[in-house]
Parts: sequence; C-alpha cells; structure tokens
Amino acid sequence: MTLTLDSIQSFHAPRRVLMGPGPSDMHPRVLTALGQPVIGHLDPAFAGMMEELKLLLRYAFQTENALTFPVSGPGSVGMETCFVNLVEPGDKVIVCRNGVFGGRMIENVERCGGVAVVVEDAWGEAVDPQKLEDALKAHPDAKVVAFVQAETSTGALSDAQTLIEIAHRHGCLSIVDAVTSLGGNPLRVDAWGADAVYSGSQKCLSCTPGLSPVTFGERALERLKNRKQKVQSWFMDLNLVLGYWDAAKRTYHHTAPINSLYALHESLLMLKEEGLEQAWARHQRHHLALRAGLEALGLGFVVKEEARLPQLNAVHVPAGIDEALVRRRLLEQFNLEIGAGLGPLAGKIWRFGLMGHSCREENVLLCLDALARTLA
Ligand code: PLP
Repeated sequence: MTLTLDSIQSFHAPRRVLMGPGPSDMHPRVLTALGQPVIGHLDPAFAGMMEELKLLLRYAFQTENALTFPVSGPGSVGMETCFVNLVEPGDKVIVCRNGVFGGRMIENVERCGGVAVVVEDAWGEAVDPQKLEDALKAHPDAKVVAFVQAETSTGALSDAQTLIEIAHRHGCLSIVDAVTSLGGNPLRVDAWGADAVYSGSQKCLSCTPGLSPVTFGERALERLKNRKQKVQSWFMDLNLVLGYWDAAKRTYHHTAPINSLYALHESLLMLKEEGLEQAWARHQRHHLALRAGLEALGLGFVVKEEARLPQLNAVHVPAGIDEALVRRRLLEQFNLEIGAGLGPLAGKIWRFGLMGHSCREENVLLCLDALARTLA
C-alpha cells in the first residue's frame, strides 16, 4: 500500500517481550507514571520531584556526589556530556576498546580535539588491566582513562574497580560507561572512586529511552573548574545545565522531558523498593537459568564465564542457521525480541537481554520455549 497522508491513523504499538540489548520492558507502574499530566518544568511540584530523583539516582549509583542528575538525552548524550566537559583540545585520553561503545568513545575524544590512545581487547573479552597499565606507563602525559563497564555489544563485564584504581595511580580521571550495568550488576561509584559515570534509562532501569543518568565526583569538578577553554557544547556544558538541576538556582536552561522524568522517578523508586543488591541478585539468578537452557539447546557463550554479564547473554549462532530468520520468527510468532550481533559479530551471534523488568522467570521460560520450537 502506498503511504499517503490520508492513510495515516493513530499508531498502536504491538505488545512485545523485549529480550534484546535494550530497550527493556517497562513495568505498568512506570508506564502509568509516564501518562500523568504535563506540568511546568519550573512548577514547585516538579522541583520537589527533581530533588527526589537526584536522591534516588545517588542510591542507584551508590554515591554521595552532589552532581548526579539525568541528562536529557539518550546514553550517547550522557557519554558526550562526560567527554565534552572533561576533555580539552590536545588532551591525551586512554580509551579501552573491546566492543562497539569503546569505539564511540574514541570518536568523542577526537571530536573534542583530544588525542585518543587506544587499548585494544578482542570483542568478547574483558578489558585487560595489564594493557591499561602498560599504556599509562608509555603515555605518562595522559589525563583521562575511559572504558565501558558492561559492553552491550558482546556481553563482557570489565573490572571497573581495578581499572579506576590504575587510572588514579597514574594521575588520570576515569570516565565509566555504565549504560548497561546500572541496576544490573555491582557498580559502586564512591567506593571505587569513579570520577565521571554515565548510564541510560532504557536498560536495567526499564524506563523510557532517552534519559542518561550521570554522576560527577570532586576530581571531575576540579578539572571542569580549571578548564582553559569554554566547553564547546552549549547544551551539555555542565556549568549551564546545573543552573536548572541545582535547587538553589533552578533557572531555565532547556525544557525538561517532564513525563520521561516522572517515569524515571518511578523506575528508580521501584529499584529502591526492591533493593539494589536484590536487583543484582535477581539478574544473576535468571541469567543462570537462561544460561542452563541456552546451553541445553547447544548454544555456546561468546564470553568466558568469569567475565559474563548477567543482563546480556551473547551466544554463537550454530552453523547452518539463518540467524535473521530465527529472530524474525521469534518476533512474528512469539512477539519476542532478541538482539543480533554488531560490527564483526553481525550475523554470528544472538544477544539475549535480561534487563530490569524484562529479567523475570516467565520471560526466561518463554524465550527458551520459543527458541527451542524455532530451532527444531
Ligand atoms: N554505551 C553502551 C554500553 C550502550 O549499550 C549504549 C546503547 O546501547 C550506549 C552507550 C548508547 O546509548 P543510547 O543508545 O541510549 O544512546
């Protein structure tokens, strides 16, 4: 049918079970929060909610950092916020790349006029701390170390605590990508001393996509204060954004995504009600069940057991199977979304997400049953 203006009707999203690399399913409580009436972004009721939101985010990040708030934009905007504020032209940044998102960090460094020194690990491996140590010895003038804690493109978990410790020992700030890790596996910003961390709303927080919680510690703020040049992005300049998120100032910066922030408030409240450690344990428990089922179907994991993320299970597609056809059948016959491989892993792996509200027993059972029937 040709698309004409007159043929367009209201859009009704199909009901899916989201077990890909994100977004994840939203809980009805979060959807209800999203549907509340819009109020002004300077309304005192909204301002009160913003303060609660910051407190809830500090809990999720396990930090006392005052500068903790959701950036209005997806995880990529949180990523860019960290780089544009902390990297100045000529700054050397060590970027650990073991998948897609380390690659995106390199782009960010270069677009800020920085010099990226890349520490490479194979896709599917965790970042090797020794390689970082060697790179820092070879580049004593480096100012920042950036890495992805939970590499969504492969399902590899890197040892954030150790990487941050190495960065600090060499006088560097750390920028940590926690887009997929926040709420799904341990992340302790203060105990580990992470300097700048960004996440995403649509993974283990199971909120609407398009928000990026960030947190900045004292050392990062010091770096920001001592910049020689203005931050080149007006929208992401923390000095300006904070005019809105700082309760003492609260002046217009940009119109906040009001309803999405209601939803984030609700999803963080649910995380707090469950308890962070209980949420981590739930992800691990269902991962073990899914793993047992996938292995029983003869599917082998991409990542070694000790570096496996519970919330992102990547497995090799068996020889002779049309992987895209399997995904299409799962979607069409079972309303089940799983993820494909990216970059060099495209066509070679499937990615099964168990994130946030998607991480439930019934989803594990549905997924294994659907997959077994499809592969039969
Ligand atoms: N970093 C990681 C580890 C991710 O998985 C993603 C998205 O999947 C991003 C960054 C970018 O987030 P967004 O797609 O919300 O911009």
